[in-house]
Amino acid sequence: MLDYQSIINAIYQDAIKAKDKGIVASYIPELAHINSDNFGIHLRTSKGETFGVGDFEKPFSIQSISKVLALSKAMSLIGEDIWKRIDVEPSGNPFNYLSLIEVENGIPRNPFINAGAIVIADILVSNLQNPKEDFLKYIQALTGDDSIIYNKDVANSEKITGFKNYATANLLKSFSNLNNSVDVVLDFYFHQCALEMTCSQLSKAFYLFVNQGKCLQNKVHITNQQVKRINALMLTCGFYDEAGEFAFEVGLPGKSGVGGGIVALLPEKFVITVWSPGLNKKGNSRLGMLALEQFTTKTKLSIF
Ligand code: GLN
Repeated sequence: MLDYQSIINAIYQDAIKAKDKGIVASYIPELAHINSDNFGIHLRTSKGETFGVGDFEKPFSIQSISKVLALSKAMSLIGEDIWKRIDVEPSGNPFNYLSLIEVENGIPRNPFINAGAIVIADILVSNLQNPKEDFLKYIQALTGDDSIIYNKDVANSEKITGFKNYATANLLKSFSNLNNSVDVVLDFYFHQCALEMTCSQLSKAFYLFVNQGKCLQNKVHITNQQVKRINALMLTCGFYDEAGEFAFEVGLPGKSGVGGGIVALLPEKFVITVWSPGLNKKGNSRLGMLALEQFTTKTKLSIF
């Protein structure tokens, strides 16, 4: 039997000694205020045991981690039709990279680069009655926690400075791959990225992808085939131009966000969420990567 609490405690103690803790994202001004000393790890096993260390109950901006939850909601609404509008190939490029190749003929390379996530936002805007409210309710239902909110200041901060996302959305619109207005779609997208969640809430939300599409409340949200697809996309595209490195170091499907969170999971076994706001050059949490590498090495629990 693995003593998960001792393992994550030891990893935490080791990682906080790292000299290079990365740099907190500042291109979204509201995120630049976050203290880089925050660091939390939370683990939820498929048997329902939970373990945490550090700041695992502090809410933070989940940013691109939301793209996985938005994708799962869109898949449950329109199924395979998504793939007429988005490809499933890793990009090897930064999350906000914008080029005609990345969005060839208006089709984004995958749902986790910004262009793809903006098309998913368009699908949700078209298919939800009250998009922002309904999406928030979905997250609250997955976690059984209605204290989760959008941070309006973060959403607004991103709106004011989101020139590249506007450019991306306009490019998609020019190819007729957005059905709603650029402003409405981006308003939704900025809000989903501005969701504030703790490590332990994220471990609950992602339980779906460990538990064959059923959430903690045992409700079926997506099919087994959809779980397989989402986990494959996390493995190949979850870390932008560092997806290869994450598979190499950690060996789990996962998703990062520029708020410094990373969620990773082993189907049928566990979800682990790490938060440390300092990012490496590729925009992924520096200590988060270190901690997860240590976790799968020490426990031998990776998909490889
Ligand atoms: N909201 C951020 C953006 O669109 C998300 C980026 C991220 O977390 N990688 O720029």
